[in-house]
Amino acid sequence: MTGLCDSHLHTPLCGHASGTPREYAQAALDAGLAGLCFTDHMPMPRWYDAPWRMRLEQLPEYIAQIQAVQQEFAGRLDVRLGLEADLHPGTEKFVEQVLNMHDWDYVIGSVHYLGAWGFDNPEFVDEYEARDLTQLYRDYYALVEGAAKSGLFDSIGHLDLPKKFGHRDPEGYAALHALDVVAGQGLALDFNTAGWRKPVAEAYPAPDLVRAAAERGIPFVLGSDAHKPEEVGHRFTDAVKEIREVGGKVVTYKGRKQRG
Ligand SMILES: [Zn+2]
Ligand SMILES: [Zn+2]
Repeated sequence: MTGLCDSHLHTPLCGHASGTPREYAQAALDAGLAGLCFTDHMPMPRWYDAPWRMRLEQLPEYIAQIQAVQQEFAGRLDVRLGLEADLHPGTEKFVEQVLNMHDWDYVIGSVHYLGAWGFDNPEFVDEYEARDLTQLYRDYYALVEGAAKSGLFDSIGHLDLPKKFGHRDPEGYAALHALDVVAGQGLALDFNTAGWRKPVAEAYPAPDLVRAAAERGIPFVLGSDAHKPEEVGHRFTDAVKEIREVGGKVVTYKGRKQRG
């Protein structure tokens, strides 16, 4: 795993992760990674998904905690600081303000909600039975396209997330259209190995979408989406192999600029 960087990691500030930031950094060192970029769930307006993210007042604490880890691991591990942001219609202004509060290294844009439904929450998985999957994916990818066009984010998080519990896209066209938009906007994709730990047992994006993205020149940023230290760098060797087999490129972000 020499030279690799894990760019999708959480901290306990989001309320559903365990282990201290320094334990994540130590896990990255132990796994042989060159770096990591913390991307915890960003603060959002108070009415949105509040139990699953840090509050706005906690943002300085997040920055201070990661800066302490940067200092402690200086020269041994490249520790970067970013955010996993949410695209949710109506919140863009708030998101923009938070993104302007610090010089972030990397910002992932993720869609976790369709309307009021947190569709990746295991508690609400029943709702899939009430939905038409083709329409669900069309609605979802329309939001992803909005995220790509917003100009707020560097990459799209876990591209095909609604498959998490096994509800696959029956059609697939909406995803390909979204990839065209992602490519046109010059964004990267979060190659998110957490999918391998979920019921669907497949990384995000699916292999056919990895190929389609590579064909469009879209690069990938490796992310374990770790919510505990032992998940850092999860299956990165498999991830790199899969990306390289279809001619894809792995990049990282620093100061919101793409690095090879
Ligand atoms: Zn999370
Ligand atoms: Zn996410």
